[in-house]
Amino acid sequence: MERYLDIWTARKLGVAELTRKNIEDYQLEKIKETLRWAVANSPFYRGRYGAAEVRTWEDFRRLPFTCPQDVASFGGDMVCLPQSRISRIVTMETSGTEGRPKRIYFTEEDQELTIDFFHNGMRLLVDPSDTVIILMPCRRPGSIGDLLKEGLERLGAKTVPYGLPSGGDDETILQLMEERGATCCVALPTHLAALAEKDGGRRISMKTVLLSAEYVSAESREKIQNTWGCKIFEHYGMTEMGLGCAVSCEELSGCHIRESDLYLEIIDPETGRVLPDGEEGEVVFTTLTRKGMPFIRYRTGDWSSFLKKTCRCGSILKRISRVGDRNMQKGAWKKTPGQDKKK
Ligand SMILES: [Zn+2]
Repeated sequence: MERYLDIWTARKLGVAELTRKNIEDYQLEKIKETLRWAVANSPFYRGRYGAAEVRTWEDFRRLPFTCPQDVASFGGDMVCLPQSRISRIVTMETSGTEGRPKRIYFTEEDQELTIDFFHNGMRLLVDPSDTVIILMPCRRPGSIGDLLKEGLERLGAKTVPYGLPSGGDDETILQLMEERGATCCVALPTHLAALAEKDGGRRISMKTVLLSAEYVSAESREKIQNTWGCKIFEHYGMTEMGLGCAVSCEELSGCHIRESDLYLEIIDPETGRVLPDGEEGEVVFTTLTRKGMPFIRYRTGDWSSFLKKTCRCGSILKRISRVGDRNMQKGAWKKTPGQDKKK
């Protein structure tokens, strides 16, 4: 199997051969750069990190965290460029007591980073002969489906951007899949499982599917697999990460991280201590290449761990295990496979 993500990452790092050392050296340099940029251009980051000096990983791990509440309360002050440079703002409702929405700002260059990741990450499951139906939000420019469509078209694949299905769409979507000869589908696991169940032996020759945005239950997986016999891939990401963060390879054992653009940590949510690989905790990330609204040690509320061994696919990119919800701590989420958690 071609290690597309490794080749792409090496190119982004400007190295001939990717090693853990050159990835980590690059990441520390990018963290320093991001910190300098954020402190110089954002009042919020100046307040939080103005006095900080980061030379080593130990220095970095002492930096205070940021969290969704910071974005809801001070989001505008986290932006590092004038509004004229911002090309997309995503507004998300929060469940906090104040109920203030979170706004995430992207420049065109920030969005390009995501398209480039989708272009190269999707090569793990799609080739130019494929037709991909996108059952994710795709109407608005810069939405996940829109960026995915762009990435897939760069790869040479055909796309059918449908959008997020609503209640009674199943028959229409199945018909569309059949008519257009869809060979790949990107969707929420619960949606796609429901579609698979309704398909009833129709002749849709689905080769691969990419499940995103939700915890994937064993039940959903089985329904899809049993109907279409296709390979199932998973994606993990959130808007703050620039939508895309990690994608599984054919081994389907965790998701390989976009390490050229994001630095992930797993922490103990009580003590804030960084946990060793293999231990479960809260996912924290730092953006390495974003200019509009960088994130530094941002607590996601997601629950996961890094997989310790190198993947059988040969990629040296770090893998994050199946991501659960913060409230399903200490492995509890693994024990409730029937429950799909929405993020
Ligand atoms: Zn792999």
